[in-house]
Amino acid sequence: MLVMKFGGTSVGSAATIKQVKEIVKNAMKNNSRVFLVVSAMSGTTDMLIDCGKRASSGDESFREILKTIEERHLETVKELLPVQNQSHVLSFTKTYCNELEEIMNGIFMLGELSARTLDRIMSYGELMSSRIISASFVVDGLNCVWKDSREIIKTNDNFGNASVDFQTTYRNVGRFLSEDHTLFVLPGFIASANDHITTTLGRGGSDYTAAIIAGGVESDSLEIWTDVSGMMTADPRWVANARPIPMISYKEAM
Ligand code: ASP
Ligand code: MG
Repeated sequence: MLVMKFGGTSVGSAATIKQVKEIVKNAMKNNSRVFLVVSAMSGTTDMLIDCGKRASSGDESFREILKTIEERHLETVKELLPVQNQSHVLSFTKTYCNELEEIMNGIFMLGELSARTLDRIMSYGELMSSRIISASFVVDGLNCVWKDSREIIKTNDNFGNASVDFQTTYRNVGRFLSEDHTLFVLPGFIASANDHITTTLGRGGSDYTAAIIAGGVESDSLEIWTDVSGMMTADPRWVANARPIPMISYKEAM
């Protein structure tokens, strides 16, 4: 059993998603079950937040951001899937975008953006990326299923940075083990509080989602895939001569 997580850059385009799929298919040769957790396509979460903020301040330009998000996801579907398999995937992607637009219109009308609504808005990034990727595995004929992390990871209602109720969550995760699917695809970052209200686990929270799933299914290992070659001596965006560290203990890593 293996849990794999791929971040926003790794699922940022049809071309990189194809690479992710190859890596996952390879891993499936050695693992009876793989749980794949993915982030939103790179930049999507930031754009969703920006969109919500503009709408709440009465700035009509939120519509352009929505359009950019929608076009990018629809384009990705068209590049990723053969024409004859696109319509169903295009249709649920479009449905998500329409929902998002309705919520944004509500925010615009009210001039108000609560932390709860922001979590709801942000959830669409991971919902779209994970469902598109899952659908493309199904098209390839894999025994793959998409799971809504919100039905599994239960939290309190500390929106934006919710705390996980591990007892309920692990019970929910454990149910996967009785299913006969070999590949489970899940959105990172998102969860839910009582009454199915969407919450999020904090920015960058998809790694945490993957760790929660790995803990819950008692996976042999958890792989966090990213676009740098390993843990580095410093953040390479800020330090030009940062080097990858060949080996590191948990303690040092913390
Ligand atoms: N998409 C979320 C974020 O940008 C979560 C993640 O990527 O891990 O914060
Ligand atoms: Mg990250």
